[in-house]
Amino acid sequence: SAGRRPASQLGRLSLRGVSRAYGAHTALHPLDLEITGGEFIALLGPSGCGKTTALNCLAGLLPLTAGSIELDGRRVDTLSPEKRGFGMVFQNYALFPHLTVRANVAFGLKMRGVAKAEIERRVGEVLRLVQLTEHAAKHPAQLSGGQQQRVAIARAIVTEPPLVLMDEPLSNLDAALRLTMRGEIRRIHQDFGLTTVYVTHDQEEALSLADRLVVLHDGRVSQIGTPAELYEHPADAHVAAFMGYRNLLPLTVTSADAAGVRAEGSGLRVVGTPVDADSFRDGEQVLVAIRPEDLRIAAEGETGICEAVAEIVEYHGRVLHVEAATRGGQRLHLKASQAVRPGDVLSVAVDADRALVFRAGAAQVAQ
Ligand code: ATP
Repeated sequence: SAGRRPASQLGRLSLRGVSRAYGAHTALHPLDLEITGGEFIALLGPSGCGKTTALNCLAGLLPLTAGSIELDGRRVDTLSPEKRGFGMVFQNYALFPHLTVRANVAFGLKMRGVAKAEIERRVGEVLRLVQLTEHAAKHPAQLSGGQQQRVAIARAIVTEPPLVLMDEPLSNLDAALRLTMRGEIRRIHQDFGLTTVYVTHDQEEALSLADRLVVLHDGRVSQIGTPAELYEHPADAHVAAFMGYRNLLPLTVTSADAAGVRAEGSGLRVVGTPVDADSFRDGEQVLVAIRPEDLRIAAEGETGICEAVAEIVEYHGRVLHVEAATRGGQRLHLKASQAVRPGDVLSVAVDADRALVFRAGAAQVAQ
């Protein structure tokens, strides 16, 4: 529609072996990532996994330890943050308190020596886009948190940067506003034709916003893919944990063949689907990942995977969320649509294609 045009001049951004160490500690192991103009990329992972380090390397706020960054074939990792000209939105907004909304948004254009009439036109357009036209003369302290966040976004995009970097931009907002602003950010990204890299530890935020997710763990990429790819085919137990596989059961393989992997432990016997074609050995330690909604109460005559005693029952509308413990002490999360009371002994079942078997590896998965 009128007034909308792609701001992004970005064709392709290539990160090649980008890494960063702090002394002996490698915060980001070599990262390879190709970003296409117009994409919305989320960097997702738990606290300390290296998300902010990766973003700051992109921004030029941190020098790389190794690797290179190219924007349409031109090296940019040697440039200062100003020369890269990326838009940045931080958690704390970092607005100038003594400047009006209009002056905050105009600041970057003024610094670049853009003509006054052009500044007025562009600031007017961006303020309309983020729906702050009526608030243009106010100071940041006179705005709500969500409005301040929109000023920060307006300021970051008014220079029409080739890339916009956002670091947990919604974490200072309350839950309702976070949801609204999430929609706003996606709309602005689309309407303005931005290319965005967005850091978050919130999987729901990442899944709802991003075209592709980069899941990091301990400074390494666990998986890169679309929300559907990660949701349907998590590459490892860390990604599975982020994608709603609340049950990560440490079990031991008893046999494995074309029909599936059988594993047991803590009062459970499960037949699951291996995530890769590699064969599993008898006696091998595995993590079997199951979503709460895929665990069910066994039908009459069906052999379940275990018996478990319901301990906590929460009402969630049409379904109950049940926390139960097997006789071996393994905690299970499941959804039930029939009546369950604390103390009930449940026979729990799962379909083999809903139980993913991952190699346990050395790393512990945070839950
Ligand atoms: P959070 O969500 O908590 O911000 P993050 O995923 O963004 O976490 P980073 O801030 O990138 O993680 O940090 C990655 C690792 O590097 C952490 O182990 C952190 O302790 C370490 N680290 C970060 N900055 C420094 C620094 N200036 N000096 C030394 N170590 C650092």
